[in-house]
Order: sequence, then structure tokens, then C-alpha cells
Amino acid sequence: MASLPYIVGNWKMNGTRAMLPEARAIDRAAARFPKVQVAVAPPATLIYRTREAAELIGVGGQDCHTQESGAYTGDISAVMLKDAGADFTIVGHSERRAMHGETDGVVQAKAQAALAAGLAVIVCVGETEAERDAGQAVAVVSGQIEGSLPRGDGVVEKVSVAYEPVWAIGTGRVPSIEDVAAMHAAIREQLIAIYGADGAGVRILYGGSVKAENAAELLAVANVGGALVGGASLTAESFLAIVGAA
Ligand code: PGA
Repeated sequence: MASLPYIVGNWKMNGTRAMLPEARAIDRAAARFPKVQVAVAPPATLIYRTREAAELIGVGGQDCHTQESGAYTGDISAVMLKDAGADFTIVGHSERRAMHGETDGVVQAKAQAALAAGLAVIVCVGETEAERDAGQAVAVVSGQIEGSLPRGDGVVEKVSVAYEPVWAIGTGRVPSIEDVAAMHAAIREQLIAIYGADGAGVRILYGGSVKAENAAELLAVANVGGALVGGASLTAESFLAIVGAA
């Protein structure tokens, strides 16, 4: 658990080449924060150019296909992400689960495909507001972890988990510190059950309305090993304020 805090910007479907100077600015500034691991996940169209513009930070995809290649019009494989310069990919973001009908099994297959292509992977999980109100948050997330995480020899070093309550994404609402602590502790326990002692070293990121104002408090919670940042990652200034808080 001695790993550096991992701060990842998820640009979602935002960004044209006009965003490249933001990536460059984030990369330059990252040198000032050697105790933080910084990465961005731009849209796939920008991965190659972002990799060219940035030397220090990680660059990743936001999704990948389960297959390496084939008749899957419009899709992008993990092999292609790797070829474009990506180091990692996000899989199972709640927007993909909700809008593209991705099940735990699909997310797990994507995670395995990412690992097979030589990428690290961030697997996203999180409950809806209705599930939390029904007292089902831990049970739902536990089911997602069980069904979505990749398995196999040597995978544990390449896996991170992002806990992102669906109701906190893009809403400005965040769970209480106690709820974050309880969920991350439950995820930690399950990671150890799945991966054995190595599960203690898997980074569990928190995501959902992370801003400069709440980042330090969230990152200080036990078992919170970083943040997955959406809206506040879209300018170098707001993203670097979070990196600075880490
Ligand atoms: P947000 O998004 O920071 O804009 O809430 C987080 C995410 O969806 O990863």
C-alpha cells in the first residue's frame, strides 16, 4: 500500500486537438508533483497526439472491445489503444454500463482483453441512488467487483478499481466521508478475497464530483488510493489543483 496516489482525468467525449495544450500543461506540471502518479484518458482520437505531447503522465483509453480485431464497426480494441500509445484503459464506466448495456461479464472480458494487450486497467463500479437508498450499495458494488474484475496470474499488479457512485457523477454531490470509508474498506476486503494478500496493494480510486475543494479530504480516507476525475479534468488548471491536493 506504499504506492503513490493515482490521479486520473477522464475526459469522456470532450476534446479535439484544441485540447492538446491542456495535456501538455498537465504533463509539464506533473514534474512538480513527483509524489503523485498522474494520467489522462482522452477520447480515442486524441490518444496518439496526447502521447506525443506528453512525456511524464500516463495516457489511457476510456473503453476497449473484448476482441483484438474483426467485424465490429466503430469499435476500438485494446491492441489498438496500446498501438496508439496508451498505457492503460478504463473499463466498465457507469456511462458505458448504462448507455451501452455493458454487463459485469462484458466488463470483465474487456478487462482481460486490456491486460492481454499489455495495458493496465481501471475497472469502474458504483451503485445508483435508488440502490443506495434501498441499503443495497455495498451488495451491488460487491456483485460488480465479483463479476467485473479480471482474474489470472500476474494481473493484480495491473489492476485498479474506481468506486464511482452513479449519483455522484457530474452532480456536485459526494457521499459522506464515512460512506466512502465504508465502501472502500468493503472493496479492499473483497480484493483480498479475490487476489489473496496482493489484493492489499490494488489501488482503489474514488470518483464522482471530485474537485480541488474536496480532493484532499477524500484522498485522506483509508483505502482511497487516488481519484478518477471527470469534469474537473477538462482544464489543466482545475485538474492540477486536484493533483496538488493529493
Ligand atoms: P465527474 O465524473 O468528476 O464529472 O463527476 C467522474 C467520472 O465519471 O469518472
